[in-house]
Amino acid sequence: MRQQKYISCHAPLCFFMGEIELKDLVVIITGAGGGLGRQYALSFASRGAKVVVNDLGGTLGGSGTSTKAADVVVDEIRKDGGTAVANYDNVVTNPDGIVRTAVEAFGTVHVLINNAGILKDAAFKNMTEKQFLDVLDVHLNGAFKLTKLCWPLFRQQKFGRIIMTTSPAGLYGNFGQTNYSAAKMGLVGLAETLAKEGAKYNIKANAIAPLAKSRMTETVMPPDVLKKLLPEKVAPLVLYLSSRGCNCSGCIFEVAAGLFAQIRWERSGGLLLKPDESLTPEAILSKFSQVTDFTNAQYPTQLNDYNSLLEQAKKLPPNDQGS
Ligand code: NAD
Repeated sequence: MRQQKYISCHAPLCFFMGEIELKDLVVIITGAGGGLGRQYALSFASRGAKVVVNDLGGTLGGSGTSTKAADVVVDEIRKDGGTAVANYDNVVTNPDGIVRTAVEAFGTVHVLINNAGILKDAAFKNMTEKQFLDVLDVHLNGAFKLTKLCWPLFRQQKFGRIIMTTSPAGLYGNFGQTNYSAAKMGLVGLAETLAKEGAKYNIKANAIAPLAKSRMTETVMPPDVLKKLLPEKVAPLVLYLSSRGCNCSGCIFEVAAGLFAQIRWERSGGLLLKPDESLTPEAILSKFSQVTDFTNAQYPTQLNDYNSLLEQAKKLPPNDQGS
């Protein structure tokens, strides 16, 4: 094997020179019967990973079931000499069945790709509670349940890789998708905290926000744009983040059409007011431009970064109102 070398370990995203090592890793990919998940499954298998291709085979809105979606992908992998088993369980109602399939076929789980998803779009004024909760269930609760089941295995073997599939719609909001945006942003928080809790067990959790051609985007994007958005352009990042040598955790990436970019939190330099009776809505109004001034921005990655802000406030001299 070629020698591997870090270019930088100071930045949260560490680029790795050399081979990505995935051979014999056991990978669960939920919703792998089509779109992005299918491509991940093919890519992992082509690198010698053992893949559980989970998909309940329903419609984009989440109704119906079929074994065909997962079976077709497994056949494709096996025809190419790869190793895969199909699983048709619903991530919401039978996550145990998915993990059981992996353990019975391959002995454990090393990598969990939470990818299954549905859409039930509606403007907020029309969105029903059922539409809201159904979408949260598949994306957020499904990912929670699968992760919860894999967590003891990851801790015990001191190795685990988790990918949460968020979305630009979660990071930035998107008309008609309050349910989807809420679920997708929930997955970011889940990944960020899992990264912290998993650190000492070599468990890495990251979130990706892809844009790709699939049945989710086929009806809303023009064909010439879709041509550039092949799932093949997303899979390499997922493989990198799942690899043994990956040193990156708690990060969010946007990925589409060959672009790979990290997203991070940015806090403005801020307005510091003395916490006494002078701290009024009017005081904020008069200096609101300081609240939103990013000239001296900070990039917090943990709660302690917030505590340091409070420490700063304590140092304010008496009667100083942040002017
Ligand atoms: P897709 O519809 O082709 O894939 C989703 C798969 O999940 C389907 O095969 C579906 O059968 C399966 N699934 C749905 N509910 C399930 C359940 N309860 N249990 C098991 N399987 C279930 O769409 P895609 O674009 O490949 O989406 C994959 C993921 O990427 C989703 O989480 C989606 O929200 C996310 N995403 C996609 C895009 C994009 O541009 N395509 C953008 C942002 C995020």
